[in-house]
Amino acid sequence: MKDSLACEIVVVGAGPAGLAAACTAAGRTRSVAIVDGNTAPGGQIWRGEVRMPGIDRARISQVRLLSDTLVVDCPGDHSLLAVQGDRAVEIRYEKLILATGARERFLPFPGWTLPTVVGTGGLQAIVKGGMRIAGKRVVIAGSGPLLLAVAAYLCRQGARIAMIAEQAPRSAVFRFARTVARSPRKLLQSISLMQSLTGTPYRTGCWPIEAVEGAVTLSRGGKTWSEPCDYLACGFGLVPNTELAALLGCVLQDGFVAVDTCQQTTQPGVFCAGEPTGIGGVEPAIVEGRIAGYCATGRMDEAARLFPERDRGNRFRRALEEAFRLRPELAGLTGPDTIVCRCEDVTFARIAKHGNWRAIKLQTRCGMGPCQGRVCGPAVEFLLGIPPDSVRPPIFPVPVGLLSEDL
Ligand SMILES: Cc1cc2nc3c(=O)[nH]c(=O)nc-3n(C[C@H](O)[C@H](O)[C@H](O)COP(=O)(O)OP(=O)(O)OC[C@H]3O[C@@H](n4cnc5c(N)ncnc54)[C@H](O)[C@@H]3O)c2cc1C
Repeated sequence: MKDSLACEIVVVGAGPAGLAAACTAAGRTRSVAIVDGNTAPGGQIWRGEVRMPGIDRARISQVRLLSDTLVVDCPGDHSLLAVQGDRAVEIRYEKLILATGARERFLPFPGWTLPTVVGTGGLQAIVKGGMRIAGKRVVIAGSGPLLLAVAAYLCRQGARIAMIAEQAPRSAVFRFARTVARSPRKLLQSISLMQSLTGTPYRTGCWPIEAVEGAVTLSRGGKTWSEPCDYLACGFGLVPNTELAALLGCVLQDGFVAVDTCQQTTQPGVFCAGEPTGIGGVEPAIVEGRIAGYCATGRMDEAARLFPERDRGNRFRRALEEAFRLRPELAGLTGPDTIVCRCEDVTFARIAKHGNWRAIKLQTRCGMGPCQGRVCGPAVEFLLGIPPDSVRPPIFPVPVGLLSEDL
């Protein structure tokens, strides 16, 4: 027997966007629940920390919080199927706010599957979870401001950051810095970030081409060299988590969930906020969450006051996308024997023989393992220009016994 829960408003994702949406809606409607796969609220950036700037904490107590609960399917009208530990839970809603965030993008290159090569945010998460990094030499490589945020965090924990390798060219990073300088708040954040990274080499137009145990080979301006390190932390920007929205039938545009001015998707009563609508950091996520919370509870006037702030957030998102666009050379790092699907050990040569995602899955099992294409899907899209073509439930692996009633 499944457990069940019914709430007027259900928010999926307890990151900045979902918390802002739930706290804005709380008290203005009969019941609000927030569902999240992590053990504590806060999403990728706060991860259960007590300090959550921009969130009206007084209202959190009015929200029913279901942590450790992953939404895996939407089996019927106004209904979600979630998994909580060893139990299945049916969650019924009148309005739904999707705030499912984003994940890191990984690009395959020789050695990227070594145990000492990890995601940038992933390494930060493991260290926040208790792993000691003090005294370890770390190279951080990939693209985007997350490299700097993670480097600063790891420095504070005592790591020695040997180098930050940013693939974007210097001119693009300078243009982005000028955009950042126009916002006093972002300028202050950047200054404090740069201060904590004083003395750390930051190389633009630089990327990893091969990792071996204890070192990474980097390339810059046609030169290559080996940089010794205990860990290589890599992340090439973020990929929006749009699977649940796609399953619900929401239209995606350029890979993001399409929303109107009220943050409503193309499905009536289903709203979306934060990184699934555009990658831009915590501030736009909170503003969109609040707008979704206001609109889901019929307070359009209050939502409208936030539109100018959202427009600024959208301009910042565009500047971010422009500056840190991935260079085509990165697609050439993958050799025929490089593993692309690490769940199923599928090499690039096997994948490259096929012209569409369905054939790739059927013939090689790429995308059929525990990550369900979350890691290899965006990689295949970047390498071969073949986007994943469909989303099927369950969107996360679950024990078959739990779903037997629905199969
Ligand atoms: C690994 C990583 C580390 C990051 N670290 C930093 C940092 O140090 N500093 C910084 O400024 N920015 C960081 N960012 C970027 C930051 O997360 C975003 O800018 C911002 O917080 C996005 O907020 P959000 O609410 O849209 O999404 P998120 O914070 O990603 O929250 C989404 C939440 O939805 C949950 N979720 C997703 N799908 C489901 C589902 N089906 N069922 C249940 N729950 C679900 C997730 O568990 C997550 O808690 C990081 C991003 C990533 C991917």
